[in-house]
Amino acid sequence: MSLNFGPKILAIPGPSVMPERVLSAMHRPSPNIYEGELIEITESIYPDLLTVAQTKGQVAIYIANGHGAWEAALRNLFVEGDKILILTTGRFAANWGILAESIAIDVQVLNFGMQGDADPAKVAEILNADKNHTIKAVLTVQTDTASSVRNDVPALSKSIKETGHPALFMVDCIASLGCDEFRMDEWQVDVMIAACQKGLMTPAGISFVYFNDKAAEARKRAKPGQYWDWTLRGKSEQYYQKFCGTAPTQHIFGLREALNILVHEEGVEAVWKRHETISTAYWAAIKAWGEAGELVHNISDPSKRSRAVSTVTTGEGDAANIRKWTEQNAGVTLGIGLGFGEYGTSEFNRRFRIGHMGHQNIHMVMGVIGAIDCALKALNIPHGDGAMVSASRVLANHGH
Ligand SMILES: *Cc1c(COP(=O)(O)O)cnc(C)c1O
Repeated sequence: MSLNFGPKILAIPGPSVMPERVLSAMHRPSPNIYEGELIEITESIYPDLLTVAQTKGQVAIYIANGHGAWEAALRNLFVEGDKILILTTGRFAANWGILAESIAIDVQVLNFGMQGDADPAKVAEILNADKNHTIKAVLTVQTDTASSVRNDVPALSKSIKETGHPALFMVDCIASLGCDEFRMDEWQVDVMIAACQKGLMTPAGISFVYFNDKAAEARKRAKPGQYWDWTLRGKSEQYYQKFCGTAPTQHIFGLREALNILVHEEGVEAVWKRHETISTAYWAAIKAWGEAGELVHNISDPSKRSRAVSTVTTGEGDAANIRKWTEQNAGVTLGIGLGFGEYGTSEFNRRFRIGHMGHQNIHMVMGVIGAIDCALKALNIPHGDGAMVSASRVLANHGH
């Protein structure tokens, strides 16, 4: 007998679970791509994208995954040999740096490990020592999707500005936009990167580079080439220039519907609050499991945790077995332990990640926690017993 029936759930940190409404909105033929409805719908997306990021700046849309937006931002701002400072707190900013090196940008890495967040004082120290202003930008992530740490973006920004150093501040919010509080203008972030398949609940395939006036000015030094040039996109008069070719019609329909939900129905601040509550329920469950045995959240200080993903450390080999059990018996796919050793090594097999970004509600959260709880019991992995109760207390009290 098997219990593996009913809908499956992908509880990994992207792609996230998509609303039926988004999928249905995409399920239609392409209309006229030269005039009419498609052009109007596209125009209506820009102001909502700005609202999600709390900015009055600009946003360019690329038909690409997050890696494409990473490259777009770099190509618009830097020339060969330019130096940038990358703050790594896991895997993702590090990979942005590797991409930068591949296009001949000089990368200095400041590494805070797999469990730390970026320290604003250390960043200031480096900028203060850079008297000739050779560092063109400081780049980091808001949420590192491997470690599940959340960097303090306003504190980093403040520290950079206080040095008086002119470096741009660039933040990858691919995992956090539409999950964690983010205020681009108030926090003085010059460039922000996002993609549609995580908090924005749309299938992978389009990504975004947001930029302010300071970044638009810095853009003038670079020669990004026609395809990447952001000045030809956002504010273009010619519709085909917005995508440098054929528009991603069905993605535009899907994203329009996702933004209807996030911006016009739920509201951005309520979206952040919902993610915070759901995360708190997961953290309560993880803490309860850890009362006996070896399960712990990778980031011990709750104030430094992402509200989009949780990385859990287990005893030797347990995480890999838990993932396998929940997928085969409960229809729950958990994330792999990215960044902790190569695939299949013992450090890798001691981590799993729970994605809790996007389209999530109580029955999904309790279902995932329940499935993990079943796996721990089925596999005889020592654990505290109160996870379901602790999580349901958090969710039950959410209105108070
Ligand atoms: C998912 C993710 C990426 C990579 O996005 P792709 O669409 O897979 O290229 C980059 N940065 C962060 C923080 C992410 O979570």
